[in-house]
Amino acid sequence: MSALVPELLVRAHGRRLKLPVVANQAARFAEEAATAGHGPLEFLAALLSAEVAGRDANVERSRIAAARFPEQKELSEFDFAAQGSLNAPLVAELARGAYLGRRETVLAVGPPGTGKTHIATALGLAACRMGRRVRFVTVAGLVTELAEAQAEHRLSKLEAALDRLDLLICDELGFVRLDPDQSQLLFTLLAHRYTRGALIVTSNLEFADWTTVFAGDERLTAALLDRLTHRCHLLEFRGSSYRFRQSLAAREGGHGGAPGDVTAS
Ligand code: ADP
Ligand code: MG
Repeated sequence: MSALVPELLVRAHGRRLKLPVVANQAARFAEEAATAGHGPLEFLAALLSAEVAGRDANVERSRIAAARFPEQKELSEFDFAAQGSLNAPLVAELARGAYLGRRETVLAVGPPGTGKTHIATALGLAACRMGRRVRFVTVAGLVTELAEAQAEHRLSKLEAALDRLDLLICDELGFVRLDPDQSQLLFTLLAHRYTRGALIVTSNLEFADWTTVFAGDERLTAALLDRLTHRCHLLEFRGSSYRFRQSLAAREGGHGGAPGDVTAS
């Protein structure tokens, strides 16, 4: 039997079994095994390990795509020195993901440009890599999605889909004021969410100003804050915009003016 026949058979069977690494790389792995003097079991172990690694990477990629992050921002890219008021050990602890299983809430509050979306995204990515289902939404986008679902009589379907998430990230609470109907939709969702799974909310508002988001409804706002702050981790961001400080430092001669230096002054 020529060497080509088993190779073609492996390729055909590999395809049929949906094992792309086996289908396309078995011959290469066999050659490498022969060169290294490895036996058939070692060859098979190496081949299947590569197949499994490839599949894990695909699952992770599709989980990250499904989360719909606006940008892929990593924790490693965050300059903690420039955001000195942020509780860095708490961020590191959250990145390890124990809060997900405990269905806890993270509130990230602070002025625009201080890194709330960056940190929320990085925590979301970390959760995806731990095999968790994550969805990133802006509050404006979520409210639109909820209102559309309600108009089309499929609100409970959307809510069920959101319930299946391990982590929901609601970015930018406070950027848009909601009318009473929108307030009620968002309130219902968030109040329910905190019993169902982990939640990250970012906001540029102080808690005292949250009523302005919920159509001035103080009772509703108080009820929501009561729930969200019940088992919550607070991440406080302070100072001025990171980007703004960076461009300011660059304009002032660019002598290594790290953003952290500017805050310190
Ligand atoms: P926020 O959501 O608080 O308005 P962002 O997270 O969108 O702010 O930050 C604005 C931009 O500045 C982003 O590109 C972000 O990556 C960057 N940025 C903010 N703070 C930091 C930081 N401490 N280190 C690195 N990049 C930062
Ligand atoms: Mg933001």
